[in-house]
Amino acid sequence: MSTTHHRDYKRIATEEGWITKELMDRYLALLERGDHGDPGFQNLWGFFGTSQSPRARGLFERIQDMDARRLADMDATGIDMQLLMLTSPGVQVFESADACALASSSNDQLAETIARHPHRFSGLAAFAPQAPEAAAVEIERSVNRLGLKGALVNSHTQGRYMDDEFFWPIFEVCEALDVPLYIHPNTPSPQMVEPFLSRCLDAAIFGFQAETGLHVLRLIVSGVFDRFPKLKIVLGHCGEGLPFWLYRIDFMHAGIVRSGRSEGAKPLKRKPSDYLRENFFYTTSGMAWEPAITFVQQQMGYDRVMYAMDYPYQFEADEVKAMDALPLSPEQKKMFFQTNAERIFRL
Ligand code: CA
Repeated sequence: MSTTHHRDYKRIATEEGWITKELMDRYLALLERGDHGDPGFQNLWGFFGTSQSPRARGLFERIQDMDARRLADMDATGIDMQLLMLTSPGVQVFESADACALASSSNDQLAETIARHPHRFSGLAAFAPQAPEAAAVEIERSVNRLGLKGALVNSHTQGRYMDDEFFWPIFEVCEALDVPLYIHPNTPSPQMVEPFLSRCLDAAIFGFQAETGLHVLRLIVSGVFDRFPKLKIVLGHCGEGLPFWLYRIDFMHAGIVRSGRSEGAKPLKRKPSDYLRENFFYTTSGMAWEPAITFVQQQMGYDRVMYAMDYPYQFEADEVKAMDALPLSPEQKKMFFQTNAERIFRL
């Protein structure tokens, strides 16, 4: 058991990956068949699922372990609690009926894992965006009956984005339940992945944030947050680059709307940055870098930025030490590591 006697905050890591054995088997079968139409998925899980490199093998084992090994890794790096989410791309590469069944089964297994270690784990619900009405039912079941703390989606679903009203029952249920939706990266959609693939830029190095930042901007300019003003979204990786672009997004969006040159950019009730400041929360997964974190805290609010490790993809003990050394007051540090997550996810 880790202890907190030497520090007066708990370290809650808020974007930590896991996968069920059954989903891993389905990924491997899909890779073998190769008929899924998603080159990003092929490259990502072709590496982590089938490569014999030590890094891929270590991750392959760690991401499936929900007991001794994971807890030992948490203890070794001083992580008191992980907020777990089914790893990318979740169930989104399967056809609807399969995806719904796999999501329900993984949520049941996640609830069992949390019940075994209630002080070490909490989690978000997986769902199948390709079946939005069923997804809404599954999110409601996961929150109200299984005690999960919100839902997560891995960006595009087979090239479709959630600004399409087809998906809006998912926003409706998250808003009604008052739980956050975590928009986690996926590899770029099939429409945009090619220039990334040929230089191995499709995953966490750049493709994830390009894909996920684009998805979030599509939501904002389509008016999702005027229609669902209380919707809460969580973004990893210090906001997928968007906080750095606030000024330019606002400036250019106003001009595009004024020019009337696109039906795709309609007038909004507020500036794009207003939604990013008030409907969004941010985690530091994979971005253990003081200047970036400080910038996001200053621009978006110290009460909106939460610690995350991105286990097991970025399992680095030195990064935890770097986060402990952030230039924060004791009160801000406790918010960053503990109380923001407790408030936002109701842990
Ligand atoms: Ca992640």
